[in-house]
Amino acid sequence: MVGAGPVGLIAALGLARRGVPVVVLEAEPRDRVRPGSRAIVLAYPTLRRFDSVLPGLGREISAAGLGVRGYDAYYENRRVFHYRTGENVLGRIAPMPALATSLPQKVTETYLYQACIDSGVEFRWGTAVTGIQTRGDGVGIAFETGETLDVAYVIGADGARSRVRREIGATMQGHTDDAPFIIVDVEDAPDGSTPAMSAMFRYRTPGLDGRNVMHMPFKGGMRIDLQCAPTDDADYLSSPEGIRDWTSRVVDPWYGDHVTWVSTYRFHQVVADSYTDTHHRVLLAGEAAHLFAPWGGRGLNSGVLDATDAATAIADALAAATPVRARELIERCARKRREWGLRNRDVSSRALRIMRASEAGMHRKRALAARLAPVCWPAGAWLANGPTQLGMPPLGSLDFY
Ligand SMILES: Cc1cc2nc3c(=O)[nH]c(=O)nc-3n(C[C@H](O)[C@H](O)[C@H](O)COP(=O)(O)OP(=O)(O)OC[C@H]3O[C@@H](n4cnc5c(N)ncnc54)[C@H](O)[C@@H]3O)c2cc1C
Repeated sequence: MVGAGPVGLIAALGLARRGVPVVVLEAEPRDRVRPGSRAIVLAYPTLRRFDSVLPGLGREISAAGLGVRGYDAYYENRRVFHYRTGENVLGRIAPMPALATSLPQKVTETYLYQACIDSGVEFRWGTAVTGIQTRGDGVGIAFETGETLDVAYVIGADGARSRVRREIGATMQGHTDDAPFIIVDVEDAPDGSTPAMSAMFRYRTPGLDGRNVMHMPFKGGMRIDLQCAPTDDADYLSSPEGIRDWTSRVVDPWYGDHVTWVSTYRFHQVVADSYTDTHHRVLLAGEAAHLFAPWGGRGLNSGVLDATDAATAIADALAAATPVRARELIERCARKRREWGLRNRDVSSRALRIMRASEAGMHRKRALAARLAPVCWPAGAWLANGPTQLGMPPLGSLDFY
């Protein structure tokens, strides 16, 4: 396993739970600091997947987070849609992402790491991988230190700048957006009101030149995202003064003075052209395989499914009757996960189109949905669900990332 991010950790746990000896190679030291909220929303299929790897793990992580209370959509500062989790709408549970938990990514990582330790996973911290040589019967790994290691299979979970991806000759395909967005984490308000807030999507916020803002509480704080225009001065908007200015237009000014983390982020909508090597000895997972705009919540959620599918494919390949069968299993996993990667890229692109509304047709559609929303539930749900694109999974399947 290359990489001890959340994707590498759940993949390592999946392998260990299948009785496969696994070593995690991580470039950074054990005591590194993992900053910011990052991937806060873990959706129901992800939590179920944790439980399928280690019974109780998904429930434990879910309990450590904040249950998503509901969704509100604002259009030009008017609340046009309001939904509380579990509400019965149109005679059935609403087709909204009601079952999700919200917590900082580093907390999720702490649970996954502990589960790995308890399951006997070996970690080598401060071990940067610099070379990957695949053969028909295994993989040679080279380290920065000059040492080498020979293994049967590798999962490349080494993130956005993946060395493993480069070494197997895969390249990212897609595009990078020109407009940044700014993520601000703030503390919980002392009056206890923050955790009770719903996720809020604010389209065309007056006072912010019509920019969109999202805010979403998580366990221990709240995240406020500002969608910038390409010409915006991101340095000012992410400065303490700039943050105080724009956050006060959408939340209590108290939050602007209680910022815990700021990040400027650019949308990538890219998927690797292959998730495996020519010998089918390496599988890519998580951000090593794809990068999506956070709108759509596909990043970590789909990474967990890549990782656990890769662990299953490798455990099955190791037990396969023939090398041909083993190759087939890896190739099939790579193909299936890449198809999901392309689908997820489309979904987060759709979320971006709705958020940005740069085409006149989408602009009109959004404005119409906002007018109808107070009297027509599906119109409001479409607006509120625009940035997340979390529909219900197809009947009988929990794979929707
Ligand atoms: C500001 C921000 C906001 C985000 N918001 C969201 C969100 O709302 N929703 C969402 O789903 N996702 C979000 N993400 C993305 C989310 O953080 C990623 O999906 C997640 O971290 C991916 O996990 P990973 O394990 O694939 O990669 P990483 O977490 O990047 O882990 C990769 C690991 O590999 C290690 N590594 C790298 N190179 C080597 C090497 N050569 N040798 C050994 N080790 C190596 C790294 O040190 C790292 O520990 C956000 C990210 C950022 C930065």
